[in-house]
Amino acid sequence: MSTQITGIGVGHGIAVGPALRMPDPIGEPPDVESQLEALDEYARVEEALTAVTDELVDLGRRAGGDAEGILEAQSLMAQDPAVVDDIRQRVGDGKTAERSVYEAYEGYARVLEGLGDNPAARGADVRDVARRVIARLRGVALPAVPQSETPFVLVAYDLAPADTATLDLSKVLALVTRDGSNASHTAILARNKNIVAIVGAAGSDVIVNGQTVIVDAESGQVVTDPDLAALAVAAERGGRVIAPRPLTPGALSDGTPVPLLANVGSPEEAAPAVALGAEGVGLFRTEFLYLDARSAPSVELQRSRYRDLMSAFAGRKVVVRVLDAGADKQLAFLGHTHEENPALGRRGIRALREHEDVLRDQLTALVGAQSDTGAELWVMAPMVADVDETAYFVSLARSLGLGTVGVTVEVPAAAVLADQVVPLCDFVSIGTNDLTQYTLAADRMLGLVAQYQDPWHPAVLRLIKLIGDAGHASHTPVGVCGEAASDPLMAIVLVGLGAEDLSMSPGAIGDVRAALAGVTLARARELAERTLTQTSAAAARAVVAEALA
Ligand code: PEP
Ligand code: MG
Repeated sequence: MSTQITGIGVGHGIAVGPALRMPDPIGEPPDVESQLEALDEYARVEEALTAVTDELVDLGRRAGGDAEGILEAQSLMAQDPAVVDDIRQRVGDGKTAERSVYEAYEGYARVLEGLGDNPAARGADVRDVARRVIARLRGVALPAVPQSETPFVLVAYDLAPADTATLDLSKVLALVTRDGSNASHTAILARNKNIVAIVGAAGSDVIVNGQTVIVDAESGQVVTDPDLAALAVAAERGGRVIAPRPLTPGALSDGTPVPLLANVGSPEEAAPAVALGAEGVGLFRTEFLYLDARSAPSVELQRSRYRDLMSAFAGRKVVVRVLDAGADKQLAFLGHTHEENPALGRRGIRALREHEDVLRDQLTALVGAQSDTGAELWVMAPMVADVDETAYFVSLARSLGLGTVGVTVEVPAAAVLADQVVPLCDFVSIGTNDLTQYTLAADRMLGLVAQYQDPWHPAVLRLIKLIGDAGHASHTPVGVCGEAASDPLMAIVLVGLGAEDLSMSPGAIGDVRAALAGVTLARARELAERTLTQTSAAAARAVVAEALA
């Protein structure tokens, strides 16, 4: 459904294109006591302030023009003696460097905002300096303008002057920001650079990645999901119209359907997923709903949450995974205690089996939600390793009235035993995140071994092939719900190895759809076969990339 969002237009231009959102800004540091001596804590602040000052001066020099003056003024904020003094005092009071920087700059921004008009717009610049310093202290990168091969409309809460000054104008068709005013630096720089922009668009939080928007600076209106008539008017007014990608069902070039489904963690993610072309849900991670719950949620409460999600997909497939507690997602009501290696501990089906009452309640709630909605419900269990665990879950779920029951294959043991496990199920879904972690013995939470977390590794691909073959032999549908499905090249390989549908972060659906549309099933199988004889992840990827170049 089309919506209109009003803000303050900058200039008179009009642009149309798919939206891409800037990642959320860095969050407020918690107000906790510092574990360091004040002197050491303050030394970190000094280092970060100097680095940010240099960075802003450098960015300004490279941007030139008005941006240079604006960024230089920001660099001075990073050295403002009153703020620096304020930070020193807060650090002296035992606060962390991050919190002290946040509080001191927040105070400064509020003072400027209290003065009204132009200085008020500078509050945003002050907060940007603080975020840069905090990112530096945390050793993390600042959220950056997203990259895309095709032009897009950039949607953000606000943009820092440095972001606006360094935008790639061959890609950014227009800007829409929730915050900001006519006098904000985003607006000033947009005007100077002739970028179509709307600032202060308070309702713009609803815009999701991939959604087509018309940005009409003259009227200050953003129109989402415009109809053909509105698009034609925009084109007549000179809008650079980038044809939105059609939201057709996923398919190979020979017509083989490959439904493209969404991975979601809450009912609120349903509408954006539909807007991005999701044909259903391939993984609903239910544990995300209960991470803060002290006691097990009631059947009624669960039923209403599942109903909320399923009603957005009436008539379509919704694959719900029962609680996958453990590892990085502890649920208090499943009695988790400290484990040295939680990824190898009492996780998924292991924890549920010990708390069968919780599992029964969840399955009962799901049966209820299915009868309340028209969704086609498929239910699966996480972390099963063998026939015993598969048979346990499948028979319990069926006895409670569920019609389509399966498991996630993500433990290498289950993949090796795919010929035994898969025929017991109505379907299986491959969890490539855990399958990769366990196959390569590399903790997926540990940055130090991130390079091992590569599903292109032939060892992982061979396991996926075993699962695909077992599905084929027993006529059991095989899908993929791990992050690997979001990689367009890998998506082709997964289909070649036997996956019949793919589930991913909704933002990836457009690119995966385009990649699949370029190959036949025979070609996907041939490419997949070639990956299996490579000796490394890099070689497997290269063989596919080169063949399709
Ligand atoms: C997986 O392991 O690939 C998966 C989809 O599940 P999760 O990422 O929630 O563990
Ligand atoms: Mg998993």
